[in-house]
Amino acid sequence: MDVVVISGGSGFVGSHLVDAVVARGFRAVVIDNLLTGNPRNLAQWDGDDRVLVYHQDCAHPPALELPVRYVLHFASPASPADYLRYPLETLAAGADGTRGMLELARRHGARFLLASTSEVYGDPLVHPQVETYYGNVNPIGPRSVYDEAKRFAESVTMAYHRALGVNTGIVRLFNTYGPRMRLNDGRAIPNFVYQALTGQPLTLYGDGSMTRSFCYVSDTVEGVLRLAMSEIHDPVNIGNPGEYTILELAQRVRAATGSASPLVYAPAMQDDPKVRRPDIARARDLLDWGPTIPLDQGLAWTIAAFKADLA
Ligand code: UDP
Repeated sequence: MDVVVISGGSGFVGSHLVDAVVARGFRAVVIDNLLTGNPRNLAQWDGDDRVLVYHQDCAHPPALELPVRYVLHFASPASPADYLRYPLETLAAGADGTRGMLELARRHGARFLLASTSEVYGDPLVHPQVETYYGNVNPIGPRSVYDEAKRFAESVTMAYHRALGVNTGIVRLFNTYGPRMRLNDGRAIPNFVYQALTGQPLTLYGDGSMTRSFCYVSDTVEGVLRLAMSEIHDPVNIGNPGEYTILELAQRVRAATGSASPLVYAPAMQDDPKVRRPDIARARDLLDWGPTIPLDQGLAWTIAAFKADLA
């Protein structure tokens, strides 16, 4: 059975990738240091030898005597709250972790896919964001530990491709949501759902006018796997172009949960991108991929999962 190595496989997106690759007939090897991951995300595979889990850092992955076909590097804190809490670990995941996983791919002659991010565009001056846009990142701001780590990760990935001939790809993920996000993840959707379900006020940072575009995790996973199994080396955006203000999002979560929680305003985060929406023409053309799950449907599934987690 061919193997897919997934760093960050105990995390939110990573664990959904594990489920998807096993469903497609692969064996999954997970490398996760559990900084922000949760072993419960893979509990459905306990005792099943199609999923092998190493709780260690992906900067120094184990030697594997297995036929590794794909290496998916998805290990990193990804919520602003997390990467502000773990700034040095976030830089290490993008730098040392990416190098460790690239070396693993090189040893095995496997294709490598980097999970990059819309944060490489920073607070964008081009809207929607196309892959050819170089971005607007504050290199010394608090978010830079994530943004610059991922920009370095893209750079080292292209260097391994150009200088060493490693077969690499780069996916730039826009905001993704769904079951298995932590209740205390800190991002807008988990925060609002948790607050609405527990009768607490929904916290809007700034005036709620910032926009984001939210992609349900099953759509993200489908796009990621199509790119992983392609021969594309240039970055590809994967996200849902439906764009909402954060105030609209809070109102939708309130309506979907039937909550009477008030909205409260808190100070804006430094360098918070004012707008974000993916241009997905490249994914549509090259991968024949587009999102299929509308926000209200995805929110209903996410709310149901959070209710189960709370119970
Ligand atoms: N946000 C908010 N309240 C929250 C969490 C987030 O108003 O409780 C805002 C945040 O300031 C940003 C947007 O929602 O403008 C999306 O933030 P998130 O942390 O989900 O991820 P980001 O897209 O910034 O990485």
